[in-house]
Amino acid sequence: MSAIELYARETRGFDARVENALAVLQRAAAEHPGRVVQATSLGAEDMVITDLIARHRLPIALGTLQTGMLHAETTALIPTIEARYGLTVEVYEPVNESVVTFVRQHGERAMYESIELRKNCCGLRKLEPLSRMLKDRSAWVTGMRREQSNDRGAVEFSELDDKGRTKFNPLADWSWADVWLYIQRHGVPYNPLHDQFFPSIGCAPCTRAIAVGEDFRSGRWWWEAEGAKECGLHVHADDTSISMIGSHA
Ligand code: SF4
Repeated sequence: MSAIELYARETRGFDARVENALAVLQRAAAEHPGRVVQATSLGAEDMVITDLIARHRLPIALGTLQTGMLHAETTALIPTIEARYGLTVEVYEPVNESVVTFVRQHGERAMYESIELRKNCCGLRKLEPLSRMLKDRSAWVTGMRREQSNDRGAVEFSELDDKGRTKFNPLADWSWADVWLYIQRHGVPYNPLHDQFFPSIGCAPCTRAIAVGEDFRSGRWWWEAEGAKECGLHVHADDTSISMIGSHA
């Protein structure tokens, strides 16, 4: 059974949520001309946002993090997006020397050994490349939704990150059913791993399929307690510590 067959469902207010998401993106483009990027994880939500950006020809750049640990199915979406929409996806990779040094010191499976090592891995493979993506930009767009986890229950359509940039979350009020209904209606390309019960797709070592009834986020960093499951991409402006609000990426 495909993810569309499993999840796509029309619920009241869907069209209004699509309109609102578009309005959020239009606002992002208007308020940050030439200085806003969609940080796409290439997951289902982000593919919806990319489709909205392309369909409405919004001047919002696309950027993704190639951590070096992604599934082949995930990276294959980059040329798919470029061919389908005629847009360029900026690809940000970690500094090779940092990765080589980390792996030499801690091994390929360091992320399973401690939260600290896992966060160090996320730091060099995700946070540092993200900082390059966001350099010279005043705003970014993410696929965060309130429904994704308890920690994301307060996600706003726009908010400030810890660096004072505006982060737009156009799908904040969307359900998983909305995401898949949009994908179905518009024939949006998506990661085939979603058809294999991977709701949230990140790096291969840190992502797994879930069973029916399991929480979406249980497929990510499943060996860690829920509160630790963050990689640091989404830090609020008013956080006093690196309390990670969570990331789809
Ligand atoms: S998600 Fe896993 S493999 Fe990817 S950067 Fe974080 S710890 Fe490393």
